[in-house]
Amino acid sequence: MRPLLMIPGPIEVSPAVVAAASGPPPSHVSAQVIEAFGESLEMMREVFCASPSSQPFVVAGSGTLAMEMAVVNLIEPGDSVVVVNTGYFSDRMAEMLRRRGATIEEVRAPSPGAAPTVAEVGEVLRRVRPIAVFTTHVDTSTGVKIDAAAIADLGKDLGILSIFDGVCATAGEEFLMDEWGADIYLTASQKAIGLPAGLALLMASERAMMRREELKTPPPMSMDFHQWLPIMKAYEERRPSYFATPATTLIMALQVGLKEILEQGMANVFERHQSVADGMRAAWHSMGLETLTDPHLVANTLSAIRYPAGLDATLVSEIAKSSVIVAPGLHPECKTEYFRVGHMGYTTLRNDWLETSVLAVSQALSAKGHVNSLDKALEALRAHIG
Ligand SMILES: *Cc1c(COP(=O)(O)O)cnc(C)c1O
Repeated sequence: MRPLLMIPGPIEVSPAVVAAASGPPPSHVSAQVIEAFGESLEMMREVFCASPSSQPFVVAGSGTLAMEMAVVNLIEPGDSVVVVNTGYFSDRMAEMLRRRGATIEEVRAPSPGAAPTVAEVGEVLRRVRPIAVFTTHVDTSTGVKIDAAAIADLGKDLGILSIFDGVCATAGEEFLMDEWGADIYLTASQKAIGLPAGLALLMASERAMMRREELKTPPPMSMDFHQWLPIMKAYEERRPSYFATPATTLIMALQVGLKEILEQGMANVFERHQSVADGMRAAWHSMGLETLTDPHLVANTLSAIRYPAGLDATLVSEIAKSSVIVAPGLHPECKTEYFRVGHMGYTTLRNDWLETSVLAVSQALSAKGHVNSLDKALEALRAHIG
């Protein structure tokens, strides 16, 4: 039996997405790709809750590429920036900014699973007055979700660009880009968007596009908004165009995946992620497990769960014996102390998969001598997911 992939990306994808991603590779200037690309860019604004004047970009690559595109198109050597650091991927963002030659001030979480307060971030922004503030919406290494609305608001008030890494959040956690006034929201195809890996997705505000105009140090060519803007415009206008070959089969899948999300409606999508997360957490708690994450900061897209006393990372391979793949810890300070279960995207619509995951964890715990009740765990889950 093929194991069920319950890590925080790549995730299981819908049958329609698999079908769309499995066709013979079409040309980048074929009518079907032009239509799929154009429609996907239009749908992206809705999925990102972005304004009609914002600019979507879809480029072949991973979430890391999307992060780097944000860095090199908004920041140049000597710029001052602030990084709100909640874990592994914030560290990565800071390193990218360092390599771009920025002067960085970090506002760090006091410990893994925690986050700096909005007041702390505000204090640093007022003192440093950076060009931009970079924040990880959901930190995949700790399951921490930041108050993105408040940070975007600070940025708007102080005239500081706000950039959010939504790779483990976009289309899973509420993010109202237009309403909140965020400047960049970026993600990758293999997380809550529900596609195979291979696409970097990024939305830029008008302010962010203007910032690119001011740069004296142009970004590397393959990441440059200037190179990609005419291509994105052409596809939206349903014209053929070429700069660098897009991942055409994934573009076909993107059209299907985004349509599936919008058919549910964004409010329902966010609500569903909330109730699934509530259900999964209720199940873990009923088994006597605790999350690594501060309960006030828990994300809806994944659970970061501490191993109970006496157990260690061998629990992950024990869980795999029930054909469910979960992920070990990732935060460098404590990765041996917890494991992670992804519950985002199409997976949230599959009660059977959620139950199978709870069952796999319950059985593995029992096999390791940690007494728990599967019936109670399933009951706790079902109370939330219907
Ligand atoms: C997964 C992830 C990334 C990196 O995405 P890749 O596609 O692996 O490059 C960046 N940021 C966050 C928050 C992520 O969860």
